[in-house]
Amino acid sequence: MIELEAALARVRAAVEPLGAETVALGDAAGRFLAESVSATVDLPAFDNSAMDGYAVRADDVAQAALTRPVALRVAGRVAAGESAQSEVAAGRCVRVFTGSMLPPGADAVVMQEDTQADSGEPDVILVRDAIKPWENVRFRGEDVKRGARLVNAGDRVNIGRLALLAANGVATVKVGRRPLVGVIATGNELAEAGQTLATGQIYESNRVTLAAFATRAGAAPRLYPLAPDTLAATRSALEQAARECDVIVTSGGASVGELDFVKAAVRELGGELDFWRVAIKPGKPFLLGRCGGKPLFGLPGNPVSALVTFYLLVRPALLRMQGAADLSPAVSRGLLGEPLVNPSDRRHYERVNVDATGVIRSAGIQASHILGSLAQANGLVEVPPKTTLAEGALTTVLRWDD
Ligand code: AMP
Ligand code: MG
Repeated sequence: MIELEAALARVRAAVEPLGAETVALGDAAGRFLAESVSATVDLPAFDNSAMDGYAVRADDVAQAALTRPVALRVAGRVAAGESAQSEVAAGRCVRVFTGSMLPPGADAVVMQEDTQADSGEPDVILVRDAIKPWENVRFRGEDVKRGARLVNAGDRVNIGRLALLAANGVATVKVGRRPLVGVIATGNELAEAGQTLATGQIYESNRVTLAAFATRAGAAPRLYPLAPDTLAATRSALEQAARECDVIVTSGGASVGELDFVKAAVRELGGELDFWRVAIKPGKPFLLGRCGGKPLFGLPGNPVSALVTFYLLVRPALLRMQGAADLSPAVSRGLLGEPLVNPSDRRHYERVNVDATGVIRSAGIQASHILGSLAQANGLVEVPPKTTLAEGALTTVLRWDD
C-alpha cells in the first residue's frame, strides 16, 4: 500500500500529453492550450471614448459648473467604427459614443448626462460639470500591448481567456487532444437500467458517473457492456478498450476475492501492474497498470470509492494527457460547522456539503456504498488518520462537483 502522494507521482509518470489539434476558438472552452498566444493588436486598439458624450479639450471646461455652464460648438460626430479625422479646436467639441475613436485635439470626454442642449443655438451644448484631462478616455494598449503574452501553453481556456483571445481576433487555437476513456464495469451482480432485477442483482451505477467525471475533466468517455466476473470476459473487455481508447478505467474486480479478475486479466494480456492499493478511505483497492500499451486505472467497485479514486487519481492523469499545467483539484476554504472524526489509520475523504456562507458539514453516513450522502455532498474534506477536525476549524474542501 502506498501513500496518495506517491500514487499521484506514479500516475503522472504513467501518462503523457497526447498531442495537439487545432480547433475553432468557439470550441476551445474548457480545453487546454498547446501553445502560447501573443497579442497581434493593442487592446484597446486606439484611444476611444468610455461614454456617450462629447469629446472636448479639458482646458475649455475646467471651470464648468451647474451655475456656470460652458458653451461649446458641436463641430462634428464620430460614431463607433468610424475614423475620427477632424481636429477638435478650442471652444469646440465632437459628438462621440462609447467606443468612438477619440478625435485628434480632444483630451477628455464629457458624458452626455453632464450636458444640455442650448435652446437658442442648435449646434451648441452647455457643459455643466468640470472635467479633468483624460477623463472618460480609454487608452490604446492600456489593457494589452501588441506582442504581449495573452495565454500560455497548459492554460485552461476559461471564459476570460476566451474573451481575451476573441478580442485579439484569434479564430483558431491549438489545444491538447481529448483522451478517449474506455469505461468498463465488472461484476456478475450488475444489471442495466430497464432490466428487471433477478434476486441478488443490483443496477450498475458507476459507468454513468465515471463518464460524467471524465467529460468534466475534458475527456471523452466510451462505455463498454457489463463484464461478468470471469477471466475471459474481463480480458476481452480490457483488450477491446485498450485497442480502441487512449486510457482504460475499470470498476470493480480489483480486490482480493477469487472473483476479482482485473489484475489477472492484465497479466494475461502481457500488461504490467504499477501499484495496487493506496492508503486512502474510501478507495484503498485502486490499481494502476498498463494494458495493450494504454494506462489502466482499476477502481474499486463501491460507487463512492470509484468516484473518490477517479477524482483524486484519474482526473489528474486525464488533465495531463491534455497538456494541462495545473492538475490540482478545485478547492475552497470554509469553517467546519461540526467536528469531522477519522478513527482509521488511513486518511479519510469525507463527503461534505459547503453552504453559500462557507460552512462545512458532513453530508451524512460515510460508508463507501452509501449514495444518499453522496447526493447531498458538493465536496470532500481530507481528514488525516486518527484525527478529529474541530468544529470551527478553517478547512479546505475539494470541490469535486465544480
Ligand atoms: P468489487 O470492487 O467488485 O468487490 O465491488 C464492491 C462493491 O461495489 C460490491 O458491493 C459491488 O456490488 C459494488 N459494485 C461494483 N461495481 C459496481 C457498479 N458498477 N455499480 C454499482 N455497484 C457496483
Ligand atoms: Mg465485483
